[in-house]
Amino acid sequence: MPKYTFSCATCGEYDVWKSMSSNLQEDKCPTCEAMTHRVFKSFRMNQMDPKLYKRINSGMTPKVVKREHLPKSNVKQLNRNPNPMSWTV
Ligand SMILES: [Zn+2]
Repeated sequence: MPKYTFSCATCGEYDVWKSMSSNLQEDKCPTCEAMTHRVFKSFRMNQMDPKLYKRINSGMTPKVVKREHLPKSNVKQLNRNPNPMSWTV
């Protein structure tokens, strides 16, 4: 089984052995039982300068954008007139 690193907002990072078939994107923190997200680590990252490592690691964290965070006018425009023949220029 491969080893995966997850990050808890309260307790920090921890490693778990998981099978490939289990949920690899989310996990439960063993300390506070909060939902945690997987941290992606590259090979030999732990041999790097800790400051540089931290910068790269934080830059690799994907940002979650939810529908309600998008400007409402954009969503409306995309749904309006799905048929191109009805567009007025
Ligand atoms: Zn935790």
